[in-house]
Amino acid sequence: MKITVIGAGVIGLSCAYELSELGHQLTVVDAGAAGAAASAGNAGWITPFLSAPRAAPGAVRDAVRSFTSTEGPARMRPHLELGFASWVAQFLRASNQQRSARATAALQKFARHAHDHVDSLLERGVSFEHHTDGLAVVFKQADNLAHYEQLAGKIRSLGYEGEIAVHRGSDVVAFDPAISRDVAGVLHLVSERHVRPETLTAGLAKALVTNGGEVIEGDPVRRITRLPAVGKWAVDTAEGRELDADHVVLAAGFATRALLKPLGVNVPLEAAKGTSMTAYGEGLAPAHPLKLYEHMVACSPFGNSVRLSGTFDVGRRDFDLNRKRLDMVVRHGTSYLDTWRPTDIEHEWVGHRSTTVDDTPVIGPVPGLPGLYVATGHGTLGVTLGPATGALAAREIALQEEQPLLAPFRLTRFRARNSRTQLPYAERLIND
Ligand SMILES: Cc1cc2nc3c(=O)[nH]c(=O)nc-3n(C[C@H](O)[C@H](O)[C@H](O)COP(=O)(O)OP(=O)(O)OC[C@H]3O[C@@H](n4cnc5c(N)ncnc54)[C@H](O)[C@@H]3O)c2cc1C
Repeated sequence: MKITVIGAGVIGLSCAYELSELGHQLTVVDAGAAGAAASAGNAGWITPFLSAPRAAPGAVRDAVRSFTSTEGPARMRPHLELGFASWVAQFLRASNQQRSARATAALQKFARHAHDHVDSLLERGVSFEHHTDGLAVVFKQADNLAHYEQLAGKIRSLGYEGEIAVHRGSDVVAFDPAISRDVAGVLHLVSERHVRPETLTAGLAKALVTNGGEVIEGDPVRRITRLPAVGKWAVDTAEGRELDADHVVLAAGFATRALLKPLGVNVPLEAAKGTSMTAYGEGLAPAHPLKLYEHMVACSPFGNSVRLSGTFDVGRRDFDLNRKRLDMVVRHGTSYLDTWRPTDIEHEWVGHRSTTVDDTPVIGPVPGLPGLYVATGHGTLGVTLGPATGALAAREIALQEEQPLLAPFRLTRFRARNSRTQLPYAERLIND
């Protein structure tokens, strides 16, 4: 089959690589450079433990605070485009105890396989920077650590099998001497991993090309058209390309919403802007990736450099680097470190998490539009779930094997707003 994937982030490239492994002819087309958007400057954690959605109890309180906050890690900045108010209302509705517990359980079940899929890529020769030092959640306040230990119990009850260790007082220095002496403690998720995310996308793109696939960069897709008479799709780009395909996979991050709209499909996606700085520094760098709990900053050591990332600014779709927000991330991040401070900046970055109203991904065929498949909305978990999404989506698209793990992530859950999502799964797979 000829398959076009729109979007060369970790999700699109994972889908494309896995489909090429099944013997199909792949073209990936991206508006910019492959792997340069959300999938570039993020923290790179592969973390089944931290896979709970942000649509959770407390979201209403956080939303109210975030409207006025300048220093908080999360902010909401409304825009006037149609759908924003509705997105916020749906997000808050999805934040009740019951729905959030259901979403957490579904994500936990899916994310449990994340490491196996990463191993599978490595075994097949996909090359990327990969670390297995676990992930440490660092707390300045003892009651936050105590609360997190309870949360760990809940995550365990959902089937999380990774090893967890807690270090307090002088144990923290013994665990990782780069962490400040002032912290209350650390919860070490021993089995978690991290990658340098831009090497993961580069590795996937290279492996795809080796399999005979093509990656087109710097050419935004303008229109996707169904050609029912021949059972194919046409993908038109700004540079005048007309790509024909038997299947199209739409993995364009939050832009997926605009690309689907002319086809009568509404995916409630918003952008949540994040930022990071990757730098060489002086002082002792951490040996582990660190989640700096109170300030929601991520610290990821890569080779000789360290990346500090954070902010969750909902409604911001621009790519401008907000100096104040990045400085805040660096200031808050280094306040958890004993001596390490950035000296030479390697890379400063902004990127947008594509976030659905329940903060869980949308993966699956588009109802009523045979041959069109969507894979986006991975929010804070695209690196964790990217390889798994690619492997399972490829089986659904190429082998028509419905994957039960993906059942909670279908477009059909946005039923009320979307007449196309009401068709049963079998009908959606069969050409109409
Ligand atoms: C600060 C921060 C830290 C994060 N840390 C982690 C982490 O530690 N672990 C984790 O699992 N996740 C993390 N994430 C989330 C992760 O980065 C995203 O979930 C993931 O990168 C999403 O991948 P994607 O392929 O869906 O999107 P993108 O990487 O954004 O790819 C979408 C692509 O579509 C292209 N595109 C858009 N419109 C068009 C068009 N019209 N035509 C053609 N192409 C188009 C874009 O150019 C882009 O390349 C973090 C995110 C942020 C912001």
